[in-house]
Amino acid sequence: MEKNSDIEIINCKNCKKDLNKDIFISNLNVCPECNFHDYIDARRRIESVVDSASFVEFSEEISSYDFLNFYDLKSYEERLYEARLKTGLNEAIVTGNAKIGGFNITLAVLDFGFLGGSMGSVVGEKIKRAVENSIKKNIPLIIFSASGGARMQEGIISLMQMAKTVSSINRLKENFIPYFCIITNPTTGGVSASFVTIADIIISEPGALFCFAGPRVVEQTIKKKIPLDFGLAERNLKNGQIDLIVQRKDLKLTLTNLLDLFLNRDF
Ligand SMILES: [Zn+2]
Repeated sequence: MEKNSDIEIINCKNCKKDLNKDIFISNLNVCPECNFHDYIDARRRIESVVDSASFVEFSEEISSYDFLNFYDLKSYEERLYEARLKTGLNEAIVTGNAKIGGFNITLAVLDFGFLGGSMGSVVGEKIKRAVENSIKKNIPLIIFSASGGARMQEGIISLMQMAKTVSSINRLKENFIPYFCIITNPTTGGVSASFVTIADIIISEPGALFCFAGPRVVEQTIKKKIPLDFGLAERNLKNGQIDLIVQRKDLKLTLTNLLDLFLNRDF
């Protein structure tokens, strides 16, 4: 007999329908009713795309500190402490070696749950190290993006990460090493305007917001109504900003096919 009392019901953030939490989780946090791709943390994201037990993390020891003594409503130090406690991560990005479909790759996954996936000095440094790992081993780099942009608590140092990550990725290109980026919701600000947009293949999850400034900010600035689908994956695909839209459950297979295409074929 089914024990209904054990079923936990949650509401989809998009269609608001009641969902069985266990089914939602086993569906990789995608709503079975409306296909809304909800937030998934970096660890589960990694598990969902890599070959079983193939992920070996590196650079996990480096972490941010409050070098500007920055204080808004709380100190940056307190925000870092809370983010670490909430996510179990040391920073907003996880990097490591992994295999996808049998291919060795370097993987970097931003986690929006850690201070909105914001890019500070450590995120920039970890991306640089991920690039160096790819060059040293001659293996492709795959980055999952999710970010509100630069980490304002680190002032201009956070903005400098845009130049640092872009110049790092350019070294990949000089070495003819493939680099794919998968945009997840939301990817905005300094992250959208730096290493994401220069990937060889730019994939997006369905419905993911990808723009520099969010729709509300743009409307307030230009004092005009903008299309409802502004910045969303489907419109970005139509406008040539991205190459593919792929469902979360299909990402592993798509990445395997792309790796096979880039590594095993002569052009
Ligand atoms: Zn839904």
